Amino acid sequence: MEMQLESIMLPGIDPQRPVVIAGPCSAETEEQVMETAKGIADKGIKLFRAGIWKPRTKPGGFEGIGAEGLQWLKRVKKETGMYVATEVATKDHVFEALKAGIDVLWIGARTTVNPFAVQEIADALKGVDVPVLIKNPVNPDLELWIGAFERLYGAGIRRLGAIHRGFSSYDKKMYRNLPLWHIPIELRRRMPELPIFCDPSHIGGKRELVAPLCQQAMDLSFDGLIIESHCNPDCAWSDASQQITPDVLDYVLNLLVIRDSNQ
Ligand code: PEP
Ligand code: MN
Repeated sequence: MEMQLESIMLPGIDPQRPVVIAGPCSAETEEQVMETAKGIADKGIKLFRAGIWKPRTKPGGFEGIGAEGLQWLKRVKKETGMYVATEVATKDHVFEALKAGIDVLWIGARTTVNPFAVQEIADALKGVDVPVLIKNPVNPDLELWIGAFERLYGAGIRRLGAIHRGFSSYDKKMYRNLPLWHIPIELRRRMPELPIFCDPSHIGGKRELVAPLCQQAMDLSFDGLIIESHCNPDCAWSDASQQITPDVLDYVLNLLVIRDSNQ
């Protein structure tokens, strides 16, 4: 399908690589969200992420604070001026997020695998002009990923972006999710206008891999990074081992070497 995409850039965001989205895996408490958001905003970051509906592999873990967290994200917007992004997995999530003025939506890896779920989200977004980022499906299936873009595009969504978060495998030696870089590279060949973000947090699954994965993404000319950052990573209610403080995030970003993508 030939797609005519529009820029996902929101007013005031520097389009220079990398565009950075940062924030905690999950919104846990109002205090944790506000402290993390202020730390991130202080570093000059303009886009804040936080999951409020969390698809967990097994029951019994923290499944997200739910709609209550939308009020905290509204506060982040008001008090820091950052744009806010959250994950949606159902049409009800879409309606609630839009009602609360969430600026950017993303579809998680466990949702992208399910065409019914993606279609439901697409239908709920008909006639709405909001940027939507689509994570790769958990399995290395490029066509399923592209199919999700086609479903959103078919619903009239023109501001689309991709998030490469790696692919699930039974063997988890080094990475939590294998990067298989050739897959997002092939996505770029197939959809050259589509901005691609890298999510080093979910690829690596551990803090020490965030910096090298960010650099690899930059070397491969990715457009942006979405990085999990928490004011107190060790105490995070989800994905504790891969989150970094806003100070470490700033350090990692300052270390990046950005080469001209045309060279
Ligand atoms: C997340 O971003 O916290 C998340 C649940 O990611 P993924 O969908 O990539 O597993
Ligand atoms: Mn996470």
